Amino acid sequence: MTFASLGLAAPLLQALETLGYQTPTPIQTQAIPAVLAGRDLMAAAQTGTGKTAGFALPLLQRLSSAGGPVASNSIRALVLVPTRELAEQVHASFREYGQHLPVSTYAAYGGVSINPQMMRLRRGVDVLVATPGRLLDLFRQNALKFKQVETLILDEADRMLDLGFSRELDAVFAALPKQRQTLLFSATFSDEIRAMAKTRLRDPLSIEVSPRNSTVKSIKQWVVPCDKKRKPELFLHLLKNRKWGQVLVFVKTRKGAELLVTTLQAKKIPADAIHGDKNQPARLRALESFKAGEVQILVATDVAARGLDIDDLPQVVNFDLPIVAEDYIHRIGRTGRAGASGEAISLVCADEVPLLAAIEALIKQTLSRDEEPGFEPDHRVPLTGNTAPVAKKPKKPKVGGGRSAKNVPGNWVGFDAPVAKPARSAPGRSPAKPAAAKPRGR
Ligand code: AMP
Repeated sequence: MTFASLGLAAPLLQALETLGYQTPTPIQTQAIPAVLAGRDLMAAAQTGTGKTAGFALPLLQRLSSAGGPVASNSIRALVLVPTRELAEQVHASFREYGQHLPVSTYAAYGGVSINPQMMRLRRGVDVLVATPGRLLDLFRQNALKFKQVETLILDEADRMLDLGFSRELDAVFAALPKQRQTLLFSATFSDEIRAMAKTRLRDPLSIEVSPRNSTVKSIKQWVVPCDKKRKPELFLHLLKNRKWGQVLVFVKTRKGAELLVTTLQAKKIPADAIHGDKNQPARLRALESFKAGEVQILVATDVAARGLDIDDLPQVVNFDLPIVAEDYIHRIGRTGRAGASGEAISLVCADEVPLLAAIEALIKQTLSRDEEPGFEPDHRVPLTGNTAPVAKKPKKPKVGGGRSAKNVPGNWVGFDAPVAKPARSAPGRSPAKPAAAKPRGR
């Protein structure tokens, strides 16, 4: 399969050649022809599957080959994303893919002054990538008109709902032309997302990229049980002993992020944090320094998680487990991208066992446990529901997982490891999930 055989035009193929993309990923193979044909789409795809190119390439082609010039304060395609970082990243992808096409693109998000955005929109923009809150601000201040919108893309729709953007999305739907193409991308499909797809999409083509695909299976995941208070020390120990290079570390709170950075910096380890308390320029600076290799450890909260596109990141560490189980999938999606291999290590203390159980139920597998000598927890980390019962008649020896996981590091627990029966809760209904998080990314 080649990009040319999917019907993409020469200027796009040229850009892809420069970027070194040789073969379309499974989601691209399915999405590109459908979007070119004008179909609505409901796609289940995780980060790292190449979904951005899956919608950006055909959209750029459609916009460049049909339709007139864009009017003042108008847009022809709207890409809604949950966070500022993702807005920047998706915008950057549009620019790269569309470098040989006369299609204008722009990103608008909160946390920065609205005035330059209003000024730029005066000239009209073909593709606007935006977070929901700022988009509505611009619309309500008459800086933006939706009459010319031909295509709406909802990227990471599940995350937008998790961040509490449901009302904003309803307001956007109400303001957009009814005649349009709508593409919905989501890593997980809750009842709410399905309901949205049912009412807002027209005869959508459903695409599901199996989580067994090669872009994700190369992530090796395991848990290191430990006591809560020893996590910083354990992290430093692993960093040194396992000779980790650059690591993206996820923590639960902004305060936790700052504390860890301070601890690392005190040990002369170049570290920076990216979280919601930092203004947008500071967040982008931290990300750029990390990408440039000047910062070894980037500590992030989940708000920042979605927007990070870092090539070949070998390690992701969950210093704290996420409260929302789905975030685990997004976090570990930062490594093992586009076929590269990666490791995702979770430091888990006794309090976090319910969160671990919810994650394991969601990903339908039991994560291996690998105690670090010298850091065995005083507060026992109970086995999860998935781990506790030992199968009576196992058909095959287990690869990693459960009590038998002592023999790690042979613990490749990719998405295609033997599937353990979930202890409880269907995906998207994690008992640990809060009702609605505070809206962010405006
Ligand atoms: P995404 O899932 O859209 O965030 O993409 C994940 C990563 O894969 C990004 O760094 C893309 O640049 C890269 N990528 C996307 N499609 C391809 C492809 N067909 N070949 C190689 N790399 C790709």
